[in-house]
Amino acid sequence: MEEFEIAVIGSGPGGYVAAIRSAQLGYKTALIEKYNTLGGTCTNVGCIPTKALLDSTHHYADAVHKFETHGISFSDIHLDFAQLYRRKADVVAKNTQGLDFLMKKNKIRVLQGTGSFIDNETLNVQQPGNQSIKIKAGKYIIATGSKPATIPGVSIDKTRIITSTEALSLPEKPNSIVIIGGGVIGVEMASIFNRIGTKVTILEYAENIIPTMDKDLSVALHKILSKEGIEIRLQEAVYKSENLGDKGRVWFKNKQGLEQDLTADYILVAVGRKPYTDTLGLENTGVTLHPNKTIKTNEHLQTTVPHIYAIGDVIGGAMLAHKAEEEAMFVMDTIHGQQAHIDYSRIPSVVYSWPEVAAVGYTEEELKKKGIPYNTGKFPFAVNARARAGMETEGFVKVLSDPKYGELLGIHIIGARAADLITQAVIGLEAEVTSSEMGAACYPHPTYSEVLKEAYTIAAGKTSVNI
Ligand code: FAD
Ligand code: NAD
Repeated sequence: MEEFEIAVIGSGPGGYVAAIRSAQLGYKTALIEKYNTLGGTCTNVGCIPTKALLDSTHHYADAVHKFETHGISFSDIHLDFAQLYRRKADVVAKNTQGLDFLMKKNKIRVLQGTGSFIDNETLNVQQPGNQSIKIKAGKYIIATGSKPATIPGVSIDKTRIITSTEALSLPEKPNSIVIIGGGVIGVEMASIFNRIGTKVTILEYAENIIPTMDKDLSVALHKILSKEGIEIRLQEAVYKSENLGDKGRVWFKNKQGLEQDLTADYILVAVGRKPYTDTLGLENTGVTLHPNKTIKTNEHLQTTVPHIYAIGDVIGGAMLAHKAEEEAMFVMDTIHGQQAHIDYSRIPSVVYSWPEVAAVGYTEEELKKKGIPYNTGKFPFAVNARARAGMETEGFVKVLSDPKYGELLGIHIIGARAADLITQAVIGLEAEVTSSEMGAACYPHPTYSEVLKEAYTIAAGKTSVNI
């Protein structure tokens, strides 16, 4: 029986950040991971590999559609699908190796195996090769993340009816894909495959794609993706799928009850993710779950057993890597007796389509629903000099701010480099800077960030000099 002060179960961005912080604070720390690589969903089959493929396919699409306008032409252009996926695997490997290094550097005991509670104090780690060891820890942090969810009538067989995980290791370029769900995964996967010439159809149940984001962004993204050739069908409820051997088929119906079906090389299910608690042996503990199977936690992220904490996707809320990381720091600082703080309303979300979509704070729909008054400052990329220079003129910034005091309420961007631009808005919110102050700061020219400056200025009730 090995003993630790802190044992973290799961090595995703929640788990590895918690383990590193724990070791830095001087605790004897163990990190338990069932797979043979660290990094969890994000590093192995989530954020990192998707962004590698999005970046590669973005280069390819630019080469095909934009380079000629820049004066660059090729006699022939060819996509090496195997190399596209090999590079993605290399990027993942570099990141997981980086994590191995950090574990060694911080003297964290990494135990490969499935962690399962025997009781509130003891964890069994079932290792490969049928060996197991038992450990005891003063405090546990559950960071076991999430797994793809599905819908009734659609069973994921990982061959023709697949999830994002299988889409990241396809043997060859598919000719066609039907994606169930036009949320974040649906849109990012659609972008990757559409750019390399796969016929992509998205079937979305809601009235808009990326339905949790501000409607103006959803509508703008829909137009852009449609123009690029992605077929998007809204308000379609998928109710059945079938593996036909060399293809997959889905059946769906619209609001009027019209039933249709589609056949494609793959049916990619992207209808959300569910918390992963199956293997944890929680029934042997006092840890309890919400009806949706996320782990119940209090404001300190303690479960119903006070020395067992839980963070990341497994406790619900936004399923984002940076939210899991924030919670990891919060829990470790709380355990260490520091004043920790986490504000969920200031966690940004990003869709890595092109142009990118990024937002923080309230959407316009949420403000209307809550009856909160707001000013709107909207500015297009089309009149930004840098955007013109870079042929990236699609999109806009929308700033929502308090009409009386100028407090920032929500910042929504669709446009080139939105993912990086949103950070200054997050800082503005954190530091409680007004829209007027955000607009008055000096921004370098020419940059995409000037679109933000103009939107803040307009939201503050002032006149932009550029429109
Ligand atoms: P995870 O990363 O899921 O890690 C949990 C780990 O726990 C896993 O390694 C698992 O094997 C392990 N585990 C589970 N049970 C046990 C057990 N009993 N014993 C031992 N180990 C166990 N988020 C972003 O912010 N940005 C993005 O760009 C982004 N892109 C994404 C793209 C895709 C395709 C997907 C699927 C997700 C993406 N996400 C993105 C979401 C992000 O990956 C998750 O929010 C994040 O990984 C959650 O971190 P976590 O630490 O809670 O759990
Ligand atoms: P999601 O919740 O973002 O989207 C699921 C979509 O499926 C929704 O639009 C929903 O209306 C639709 N849907 C549900 N049932 C349906 C049905 N029967 N027929 C048709 N459509 C249906 O979930 P996701 O895209 O699977 O992503 C899972 C999680 O991973 C998300 O929480 C997301 O935050 C995270 N993620 C984040 C990023 C990022 O930060 N860039 C990227 C990928 C994934």
